[in-house]
Amino acid sequence: MNSKIMETNTVQGLDQEVLRYAVDLRSDTLTRPTPEMRQAMANAEVGDDVYGEDPTVNKLEKRAAEIFGKEAALFVPTGCMGNLISIKIWTHHGDEVICDVLGHVNLYELASMSAIAGCMPRPVQGVDGILNWKLIEAAIRPKIYYDSQTALVCLENSHNMAGGMLYTSAQIAKICEHAHTVKLKVHLDGARVFNASVALGESVAEICRKVDSVMFCLSKGLGAPVGSMIVGSQEFIDKGRVYRKMFGGGMRQAGVLAAAGLLALEKSPARLHIDHEHAQLLAKAAASIPGLRIDPSKVRTNILIFDCSQTGKTAVQFCDALAAHGVLAQDTALYSVRFVTHCDVDRAGIDRAITVLREVVAKTVSVGA
Ligand SMILES: *Cc1c(COP(=O)(O)O)cnc(C)c1O
Repeated sequence: MNSKIMETNTVQGLDQEVLRYAVDLRSDTLTRPTPEMRQAMANAEVGDDVYGEDPTVNKLEKRAAEIFGKEAALFVPTGCMGNLISIKIWTHHGDEVICDVLGHVNLYELASMSAIAGCMPRPVQGVDGILNWKLIEAAIRPKIYYDSQTALVCLENSHNMAGGMLYTSAQIAKICEHAHTVKLKVHLDGARVFNASVALGESVAEICRKVDSVMFCLSKGLGAPVGSMIVGSQEFIDKGRVYRKMFGGGMRQAGVLAAAGLLALEKSPARLHIDHEHAQLLAKAAASIPGLRIDPSKVRTNILIFDCSQTGKTAVQFCDALAAHGVLAQDTALYSVRFVTHCDVDRAGIDRAITVLREVVAKTVSVGA
């Protein structure tokens, strides 16, 4: 989504020299494995996971199921594949999937729910990205044979493009109870559900208690190099294993990845509050700079999105200006800039980002004009 991608429609990595010194707040996907993870990867016991014989993958799946309070879990290469597998399981071709307009499944998964699962997204405008039963109920199709039918509700917690907004476990439980009454399944895109858990002070098991399935990423704030998981009933996971293979995601000695995933799962949640504090510092600083607009009270996790329209710069121009000073951010809409804090940016990096933010806006002549 940076200017280079827009121009060429292909990802052109930034210069390695730029990356070495940058404060990179484009995404928490950029986190690199810790030395401890690399050591665990090197020492991992492995086997062929397509045969179910990789002990490290099996251990990771067992731990994930335990932590989420569900029957079973499945290691998948990416979050996108985890969401697609889940959607495929809960729907038939021609069904509709209710999701937020800004939901990842609606915007950033290459329309895979349509292209592969044969479903149509039924996007609903949430309140700051957050859906409630009233909004969902209004989008359910009537049970008439010539109408496409609603099969699934997909929630996102934390909500990426809504600036890390949260559902409480009570909000999710309420939606699930209503949805189940009318025979709809609920899938949670929990790419950052551990961030939600830390911010809410509620366990991931509590947050996911009533959802039929959940996907979460090991590769984002938790810091593993590769991998996501889907979690749910044994029956759901048995089907998931079939679709994972069908979609080309059956990996062999995946224990080298699962070893890092296990450390991410066990250790990383305990430090996510630091990323949230850093996001709060950035949000408060941005709010204090004339020309930038953001409500810091809405920043609860590791994502913040501010409006730069009053600086006279588009988000692409704004990000380019930050990048020239070694701070990398992501434009998410014409005038929206996103920062994502993570374990590879420390307090000094955050302070530098704040200084650069002030400088870039100060140099922009049209502020207040
Ligand atoms: C990153 C992300 C995904 C997809 O994860 P990948 O591993 O990049 O495929 C899904 N949902 C949300 C909300 C995300 O932020």
